[in-house]
Amino acid sequence: MNAYSWLEDALTVIKRANWYRQTRTVQPWGEAEVVVKGRTLVNFASNNYLGLANDPRLKAAAIAAVEQYGTGAGSSRLVAGTYPLHQQLEAKIAAWKGTEASLVFSSGYLANLGVIAALVSSRDIIFSDALNHSCLQNGAKLSGARVVTYKHCDLADLEQALHQYRSQHRRALIITDSVFSMDGDIAPLAEIKKLADHYSAMLLVDEAHGVGVFGRQGAGVVSAQNLPQPLVQMGTLSKALGSLGGYVAGTQQLIDFLRNRCATWIYTTALSPADTASALTAIDILQTEPQLQAKLWTNCQLLQQLLHREILSPILPIATADNNQALALAEKLQNGGFLVPAIRPPTVPTPRLRISLMAVHTEAQIRGLCAELLSAITPDGQG
Ligand code: PMP
Repeated sequence: MNAYSWLEDALTVIKRANWYRQTRTVQPWGEAEVVVKGRTLVNFASNNYLGLANDPRLKAAAIAAVEQYGTGAGSSRLVAGTYPLHQQLEAKIAAWKGTEASLVFSSGYLANLGVIAALVSSRDIIFSDALNHSCLQNGAKLSGARVVTYKHCDLADLEQALHQYRSQHRRALIITDSVFSMDGDIAPLAEIKKLADHYSAMLLVDEAHGVGVFGRQGAGVVSAQNLPQPLVQMGTLSKALGSLGGYVAGTQQLIDFLRNRCATWIYTTALSPADTASALTAIDILQTEPQLQAKLWTNCQLLQQLLHREILSPILPIATADNNQALALAEKLQNGGFLVPAIRPPTVPTPRLRISLMAVHTEAQIRGLCAELLSAITPDGQG
């Protein structure tokens, strides 16, 4: 028997459910556009919220780092892969976040997997928001801790779960996105932090979509909501910061512990010089050019006004009746010149379009998208 024959059956099931996914090759073009199959589309599918991935200063920093240090670090951080650039970036992240220390990872996904598995294990318990990102959920599984999922952003459900289960376990960890990546809503972090302190639980906040968007100097929702330390702040360098990589910020003890116990940091090659240098420059820009963040919010307000929907972050989901409608709407928008992804299960529980805004979108681009979208979702347009 062919040991791989089940793959064909599995793919057939995926296709039948309309869950089948393929990559689409896009060629970046200018600040907010991409070329897909020879057509230029306005890009509403990117997490490059401030447009920094295309900023000449980040490019120059990356090129200078490659000239000085080469393309790859060639070694893990504890062996011979810690360059001055890594130390500078870690110090900069800690100062920006107002924490004692930080640690950079090769991706945000790896940061969450490793940190959660380092902080808790089989004698412990994790309380996880139902709509948390895949890497928080998989980090929780990897840790071997008991996982209790609470209803999305539901403080009463979280408190009930803490009350019921906390005392039966050694350590407890609450994990949540600050800005939910597929819904664009914001976790009630101040209240979650109070519950965490009351029940003696650690709190890990994933700021992947909060950084660059919320808080002074774009330091995130934790900073915007003035959350007291200690807590574990995780984030990515790959979205508003326009680079690649992840980080964790917190107390010196937390970071010392992770350097000794976090497998996804210890046993992997250090972040590349180009990524490290471009992230450093991105944080410099965030700290000195608040107008970028302000422009992003001006764009959010315009979208809110045109679509008559409440916009809580640059991420706006447009719910659809089913997968087919999500795909059909995405295709209509693409025919009109706009790239807006259809997001379907299993990525999300219910299908939708996901619009994401950038500071570099022009007013005309946003008006164009809204006109196309409104005509596509009216009964005459499609339903
Ligand atoms: N957390 C959240 C909430 C995310 O949306 C993502 C990326 N989609 C990540 C973590 C992973 O970050 P990275 O892309 O740096 O691996």
